[in-house]
Amino acid sequence: MYLHGTSKINEQGHLVIGGCDTTELAAQFGTPLYIVDEALVRQRAREYVESFRASGLKFQVAYASKAFSVMAMCAIAEQEDLSLDVVSDGELYTALKAGFPAARIHFHGNNKTPEEINMALDANIGCFVVDNFNELYLLNALAGDKGKKVNILLRITPGVEAHTHDYISTGQTDSKFGFDVGNGTAYKAIQEASAQPNLELLGVHSHIGSQIFEVEGFVMAVDRVAGFAVQVRDELNILFRVINLGGGFGIRYVEGDTPLPISQYVKAITDSIKSNFSAAGYPLPEIWVEPGRSMVGDAGTTLYTVGTSKDIPGVRKYIAVDGGMTDNPRPALYESRYEAILANRANDPVEENVTVAGKCCESGDKLIIDIELPKANNGDLLAVFCTGAYNYAMASNYNRIRRPAVVFVKDGAADVAVKRESLDDIVGNDLIPARMQQASAAK
Ligand SMILES: *Cc1c(COP(=O)(O)O)cnc(C)c1O
Repeated sequence: MYLHGTSKINEQGHLVIGGCDTTELAAQFGTPLYIVDEALVRQRAREYVESFRASGLKFQVAYASKAFSVMAMCAIAEQEDLSLDVVSDGELYTALKAGFPAARIHFHGNNKTPEEINMALDANIGCFVVDNFNELYLLNALAGDKGKKVNILLRITPGVEAHTHDYISTGQTDSKFGFDVGNGTAYKAIQEASAQPNLELLGVHSHIGSQIFEVEGFVMAVDRVAGFAVQVRDELNILFRVINLGGGFGIRYVEGDTPLPISQYVKAITDSIKSNFSAAGYPLPEIWVEPGRSMVGDAGTTLYTVGTSKDIPGVRKYIAVDGGMTDNPRPALYESRYEAILANRANDPVEENVTVAGKCCESGDKLIIDIELPKANNGDLLAVFCTGAYNYAMASNYNRIRRPAVVFVKDGAADVAVKRESLDDIVGNDLIPARMQQASAAK
């Protein structure tokens, strides 16, 4: 059994996270329940910040809030001196409502609406990451309307694509995001951006993938970006002050996942920046990164109550829990794998192989296919690990299932950061058009 962060098993065989017995959390807050190990989130944030400090380079560590955007998380990011990426008005609003300093907010996205851009301009956010020509001209015009000059990075696709265990060098990159370096679009975008009177071009951004376990893809991206920077300096006399290398740092979901310590990714990136830019006699740029999953993923655990089971002799046994693809769509979307234990009987010997199903009306609603567990009874608690990133953030109300509460635990204290949805929340935005009300009243 692999336990993350402050998780441990107590003498009664109960899973304890942040000093809180999960059986008591279930009794107090109900299930399903997202539990966030606050100390582990802060530890991850500090690993990034301290590793960059050790490099001597100027830096910003921007938490990619899409992984888990709630106000409490924004508050932690602000306390840990992180910056924050947002990709919609909803994420921006969440950050601003949490009191996150606008100057440290970066706005991403391949289709920002005029309303979103105006909202971000009014808030005076720190930087827009411009994805395409439409946005470039629109942002320049809207900033001009407000008499503002705004900082931008251009999102470029450097022709490197990284996957969990390998990375590939791609020629013409087939991506909906960014300006392609290989076909000259990025170069043209630099020329256009520097000609816009209301935009201040700070540099470029690249994001090569997600759940990456090795440094090679990042180092290759730095090589490409540095080569591009030198070309732009030599031919256009434009210097990049900022290089943003995106996120994608991997985490351990299951046995066999082998992420590197954060310090090693950071060292590989910063060493490569130093050597590439020094060799070209280029002033060392500021480095920004954007970790999402690796900031919160392994700090999250989802606690479910086991309900029914179905044994199909010779085929498989299902156990069903009181959540499913509504609180964690990743297995259904990406065949993502997870580890789990019985949180109230963690020391019991493993007895059977089961498939954990959710309660949604979809055959594909399976959280874990084939896991060894003690024989689970109705009322047992199942804890699924590593659900901190892209779980609550991707949760839905399919089947009109209410989204669970989120509690942050630390040193024996458990505090609600998101309330469980109520049945009234479920119908809160529903309206019955007047003519339908008349029809039913007439019966
Ligand atoms: C999704 C995303 C991130 C975060 O990725 P993780 O894999 O969660 O670290 C960072 N930057 C950009 C531009 C992204 O799209």
